[in-house]
Amino acid sequence: MDTVKNNLFIIHKRIKTACERANRDVNDVRLLLATKTVSAERIGFALECGESLIGENKVQELKEKEEKLTQYNCEKHYIGHLQTNKIKEALRYVTCIESIDRLDLVQKIDQRLQFEGRSIDILVQVNTSYEESKFGLDPINVIPFIKKISKYDTLRIKGLMTIGLFSTEEEKVRRCFRLLKKIQQQVIEENIMNVDMTQLSMGMSGDLEVAIDEGATIVRVGTAIFGERIYPDSYYWNEMGRS
Ligand SMILES: *Cc1c(COP(=O)(O)O)cnc(C)c1O
Repeated sequence: MDTVKNNLFIIHKRIKTACERANRDVNDVRLLLATKTVSAERIGFALECGESLIGENKVQELKEKEEKLTQYNCEKHYIGHLQTNKIKEALRYVTCIESIDRLDLVQKIDQRLQFEGRSIDILVQVNTSYEESKFGLDPINVIPFIKKISKYDTLRIKGLMTIGLFSTEEEKVRRCFRLLKKIQQQVIEENIMNVDMTQLSMGMSGDLEVAIDEGATIVRVGTAIFGERIYPDSYYWNEMGRS
């Protein structure tokens, strides 16, 4: 547990240094703990260290950990691929879905929220690396998509999310984040009703500095806090993860 505490210290230092370098206010960047495969106990420890935002990729995991984390006042986001048959349950636990990437999903979320008489924050996921293995909208489809979904008043559109390219070549990774920022600007210029484009969720353990430099407001960090996971990320990120 000391390692989690120490890792959090290091991450906050990295965020602070990146903000200083980019001339940004450190309060404008939130740390989201990416907690897939991490036990409720270890998550609880991170929350005791002062963290307040977690993100899960699977509804099953959210559900299993929920009851063990009730004593903590923490915000939960959904950051994984969401199947339509899991919407009802996901909505029970999270305040924001960061992985909105298709219309049928939006329609079903809207139906459910209409029924419950409430609304939710969402981010639109964009595939900025153009990898087939990744979920998210093709960049050219983002504006038409947002125009369509802006008509659903159960959704509060807050911004965009992306998973950057996995590469040790910083320039290639940076290109992904810069593209997300550019799309954000283009959406803002469209002046679409009911659309708030303030949030950019991008950057993970290996590339959060670059993401902050390009404008991230949420960085999602797992490995650098909780250590390596036993499942490959493909289990969570692409078709293999559809159970
Ligand atoms: C796992 C995951 C992360 C965190 O990745 P790390 O490299 O472990 O920091 C961020 N975003 C999403 C969508 C994830 O699934």
